[in-house]
Amino acid sequence: MAENPTLLSLGNARKSFGDNEVLRDISLDVKKGEVVAVIGPSGGGKSTLLRCCTLLERLDGGSLAFGDLAVAEQDERGVAVYAGPSVLKDARSRFGLVFQNFNLFPHWTVLRNVADAPVAVQGRDKTEAEQEARALLAKMGLAAEEGKVPCELSGGQQQRVAIARALALHPDVLFFDEPTSALDPELTAEVLKVIRGLAAEDMTMVIVTHEMAFARDVADRVVFMDGGVIVEQGPADQVINHPREERTRAFLERVG
Ligand code: ADP
Ligand code: MG
Repeated sequence: MAENPTLLSLGNARKSFGDNEVLRDISLDVKKGEVVAVIGPSGGGKSTLLRCCTLLERLDGGSLAFGDLAVAEQDERGVAVYAGPSVLKDARSRFGLVFQNFNLFPHWTVLRNVADAPVAVQGRDKTEAEQEARALLAKMGLAAEEGKVPCELSGGQQQRVAIARALALHPDVLFFDEPTSALDPELTAEVLKVIRGLAAEDMTMVIVTHEMAFARDVADRVVFMDGGVIVEQGPADQVINHPREERTRAFLERVG
């Protein structure tokens, strides 16, 4: 059987803010259909990793590619050299990002929040984009909410709108940065259920989460990050139930 293609490839990634070295030589490949959970203590660089992968921040060193599309390549000193604007624009249509705090447009209806970018960014037909947005909202259990504005929804509903919005752009890879950390437990459950459903459909996902049971259930691979490095990674059950590294063990004892 042919190996699944690699959709995301990060090599020797380095990023500092001033003197603070936040990412120190991180390499991470994600294959089509894979679900990778990133866990680790606060301040360990998880959000910065996602922000660099999604072009919200630029790497100082290392390389980044989405499939065959090279976003940044290392020069002979390891410095990240970014491609030009047209490549970056292409790359932006290969991934979606779901934030902790939903980041919906507050004055737009739910439907417009989901259907706008496919039209404005990807130049798709408006009627068709709205049809697809309605189908995505139905899949998220939000068929009745399309005419509302975000503040009329619960946090869990808003996060599901944000997931529908990301899916509407047909990403190859979907990134989540602690998608449930702003939610109460019952609202968390409905969002995790939606993400589990996407995993069952073989959506390729990188999920930063503090929900250890969820990470163990949904992820093919768990990456434990601390102090800007990947301390340990492997199959979910191994890393979470049988960690090899003392730092991983200490973290899991603290959160579990
Ligand atoms: P995590 O998501 O694992 O909690 P972050 O990536 O948010 O970690 O942060 C890692 C480190 O980078 C922290 O020390 C944080 O203060 C610093 N940092 C993150 N973003 C910025 C920024 N935009 N400017 C300066 N420092 C930042
Ligand atoms: Mg974070």
